[in-house]
Amino acid sequence: MGIRAREARRKVRAVDGPERPAGGIVVIRGGEMSGARLSNASVWEGRTLRRQSSPPHGSTAVTSPNPARGTHSPPAYRQLRGYALDPSLAQQLETAPISQVTFRIPWEEGLEPGPVDEYLEVVDVDPAGKCFYEPVDLNDPHLLAQDGLPPSEGTPQFHQQMVYAVARLTIHNFERALGRKALWSPGPPPPGKHPRDDSHFVRRLRVYPHALREPNAYFSPARKALLFGYFPASASDPADHVPGGMVFTCLSHDIVAHETAHALLDGLHRRLGEATNPDMLAFHEAFADIVALFQHFTFPEILRHQIARTRGDIDSQENLLGQLASQFGRTTGARGALRDAIGRFDPETGAWERHPVDAYEYERTDEPHARGAILVAAVFNAFLSIYNARVSDLLRLYTGGTGVLEPGSLHPDLVNRLAEEAGKAAGHVLNMCVRALDYCPPVDLSFGEYLRAVITADVDLAPDDERNYRVAFVEAFRRRGIYPRDLRTLSVENLRWRTPEEEEHQPSPALNRIIRLLRRHAHRQLYARSRQEIFEAERVARIRLHQQLRRHFVEDAAGADDALFLGIALEEGREPRFEVHAAHFATRSGPGGVTRLQLIVQLTQEVRIPRDPDDPEGETMVFQGGSTVVADLIEPRIAYCIRKPVTSSTRSARQRSFLAGFAEAGLRATYFGAPEPGSAREPFALLHRGTV
Ligand SMILES: [Zn+2]
Repeated sequence: MGIRAREARRKVRAVDGPERPAGGIVVIRGGEMSGARLSNASVWEGRTLRRQSSPPHGSTAVTSPNPARGTHSPPAYRQLRGYALDPSLAQQLETAPISQVTFRIPWEEGLEPGPVDEYLEVVDVDPAGKCFYEPVDLNDPHLLAQDGLPPSEGTPQFHQQMVYAVARLTIHNFERALGRKALWSPGPPPPGKHPRDDSHFVRRLRVYPHALREPNAYFSPARKALLFGYFPASASDPADHVPGGMVFTCLSHDIVAHETAHALLDGLHRRLGEATNPDMLAFHEAFADIVALFQHFTFPEILRHQIARTRGDIDSQENLLGQLASQFGRTTGARGALRDAIGRFDPETGAWERHPVDAYEYERTDEPHARGAILVAAVFNAFLSIYNARVSDLLRLYTGGTGVLEPGSLHPDLVNRLAEEAGKAAGHVLNMCVRALDYCPPVDLSFGEYLRAVITADVDLAPDDERNYRVAFVEAFRRRGIYPRDLRTLSVENLRWRTPEEEEHQPSPALNRIIRLLRRHAHRQLYARSRQEIFEAERVARIRLHQQLRRHFVEDAAGADDALFLGIALEEGREPRFEVHAAHFATRSGPGGVTRLQLIVQLTQEVRIPRDPDDPEGETMVFQGGSTVVADLIEPRIAYCIRKPVTSSTRSARQRSFLAGFAEAGLRATYFGAPEPGSAREPFALLHRGTV
């Protein structure tokens, strides 16, 4: 917790009424958002809010010794209300019935006012308004009894609740899919340490709901923070905001989930933020949007309303779901462009139009958002196919086998079942997309390789693809022209990464022994009592593995072959130079009772190569390589080794020409570039500026 925030909070508890702590910051106790449009004045005027700040109902009631405590187990979930769609849509008649949802997030015993929990610290300082808003205490019994504060644009404490609930839900969905605790990327190295030292554990991501007075929101890798902006709505706003009213980006489910997904992805794959090919720039954006979109679709209450509008034609449901995807992204302005390849609202007529599927668009498109949109649309098409397959029997039953709907409204029971199936399909797609991250190469990812990762991760966990989810993905990506360069035919079998048995080189028995030794480290992570312990255990595993591999490469007869197998280049007569970038332990269960205990190891290597191959003495550039090793700890054996060696001349040639074009287009400064370790650049701020 920041010193200033902590101090301000202490003062809030000590004094009743507004005051001015050090630094000229005004503490506002449940007060008005400056300039906010108050849609629910009676709530805002403070009855609910004043209760939170008075000790008898606040912290004392919750923390006082309770004789009954200990006899009941804590609940599994905490329920918190929030906006389902953008607040402005909540006021339109048509969408009013679906304006609210209740988020179910894991119950945390030690949740503090803020909210502050194990993963997140909401700090509500508003530098532009020079004030600090009193933190909400979600353990206040009055709030516990009514699923938190009611949605209100004018109540800053509700903003804190909303931003916390959505970010926490996103973390929960990630953890469920990955089968392990989420960790943020390490903080800057301690003073005096090497710039690449990554021993600094960051427990909490800071979340600032009112950080900026501008139409922007971003994840700051340097500050380990999510910063949300707010701004006055303009009269010509496409998102139907009331002119003069405030738009708060922290109240948009999709923006909060998108930013949290950036932070989670950064914690998992730090190197995926570096621009080494056109897909890498687009991937971070597309992935963050996929998470936001499919998480949004897991709420059946929102889908119910949309599906109920189906009339006559079953196919129109696809359009209605596409429309909903665009609507979710509507407040996000230009960022909604990530959904344009699904379809969009015509600015002239206001009608929604499906975007035609074009197999050559991907090849033609370089702009990161537009390219990312193609990936989002491909995953969305896979979702529609999965949904259609799940509901086909229901529709056959309902239509007496004809498949033709009678005119008029659908039966409410059918609407409920369809919405439920759509929610489940969205949950599966979200899981598949997140799980795939463990099967991606550590550097220089392409969309085609991401598809291979989705397929392989799914084959591993659900060997029977009874409902053809994988076929749905392959087909959707094929139609959008997204596939790996090196594959001639596209099938699930072809796309799955090769196992060592199917490859030219196999790991030696000695390398397999090293993998077996990793079980001990996996246990440490499995039984760790805190996320910090997991972080420390992972570091120990990385250091040990590095030592063992280095010795093995040099001393063992099979060392050179094993280095080749692992995608690590050795130089004659020199110490092997590589990094064990990650060693994550994961435990996952599939639908058919399959349980996997895996260790995901990322090995990376960095070399400098001439920028111009014809000028070996001239300017050089960084070229990265390595591999992701998915080790099965039950057998134990290497299940897959996904390689990107630095010795690949086709890859270095591609990267050279990409960087040359990139520099020419002047994009280097705008997008990621390859930030130096420890630099405080804000790649996402630039990427998102003016896009909300
Ligand atoms: Zn983004």
